[in-house]
Amino acid sequence: MTTDWSTVKGVLIDLDGVVYTGRIPIPGAAGFLAEARQRELKFLLVTNNSTTSPELVAERLHGMQIEVSPHEILTSAQAAVGYVKLHAEPGARVRVVGEAGLRQEVEHEGFVVVEDGEAHADWVIAGLDRAFTYEKLANATRDIMRGAHFVATNADALLPVEGGEVVPGAGTMIAAIQTATAVQPVILGKPEPGLFEHGLRRLGGLAANEVAMIGDRLDTDVDGGRRAGLHTILVLSGVTTPAQAANAQPPPDAITSDLASVARLFWP
Ligand SMILES: [Mg+2]
Repeated sequence: MTTDWSTVKGVLIDLDGVVYTGRIPIPGAAGFLAEARQRELKFLLVTNNSTTSPELVAERLHGMQIEVSPHEILTSAQAAVGYVKLHAEPGARVRVVGEAGLRQEVEHEGFVVVEDGEAHADWVIAGLDRAFTYEKLANATRDIMRGAHFVATNADALLPVEGGEVVPGAGTMIAAIQTATAVQPVILGKPEPGLFEHGLRRLGGLAANEVAMIGDRLDTDVDGGRRAGLHTILVLSGVTTPAQAANAQPPPDAITSDLASVARLFWP
C-alpha cells in the first residue's frame, strides 16, 4: 500500500539523527521546518529525553541556527505528565525520579512534588536521573507498594552522548524500581504509543492516519509510529544504514536520505 502524502496534515519529527547530530545541524533541516510552516504542515519535534525542558531544547536548536518555539517541541516528560494529568485527581502528589525537565513539567501542570523524606505520593514518575540514589529507589518502591501509580518517561537502555559514547538510560532506573516492586510502569516514550498519542492531541487532534513519524531508528521511530497508526518515514541521516533500511520488515512507508528529501516527498 502506498501512501498519498498529500493527505498528511502533520508530522512528528525525531531530533537526534534527523535535525542534528550531537551539536551539528543536519543540512536541510531548518529549511524543512521553514517550508512546513509556510505550507501549514503541522509539526512537533519529539525526543525521548526527559531531562531538559522544551525551552532548553529550543535554545540548543537556536545555537545551531534552527529557530523553533518551545511549543513546537514534545519531550517524553511532557507525555508522561500529560498521561498523569489525564488520569490523576487535580493536585495529586507526585514523586519525581528524574531531572529538572521532568520536575518542571510536574510543577507546571499543578501537581504537588513529594520531596525525599516526605510522606507517600499518589503517583511515581520516573525518567533518566543522573543523581539516582538508593534512597530515591527506596522511596519510589515504598510509594508504589502502598498503591501509587507508576509511570515512566521512556525505557531506553542507553543514552548516546557526545563523542559517540553511551551512558545508562532511563530504562535502567525504571528496571530497578520495577524489580523491587514487581509493578510494570506505564511507559510513555517511543516506541510506546503514549508519546505519539500525546503528539496527536498537541497537533490539534489530528487522526493517526493524517500524521507521519519521521525518524532515524527502525526500532523506536518506525516501529513505534506504525504501532500508533501513523505513517512512517525513515531518514538515513542518523543511525540506520541503507542496508538495514532495505531489510526492514515490515518496511517504513518511505525511506529518504534526510529531511530535505522528505520535503520533496511532500511537496514534489
Ligand atoms: Mg534519532
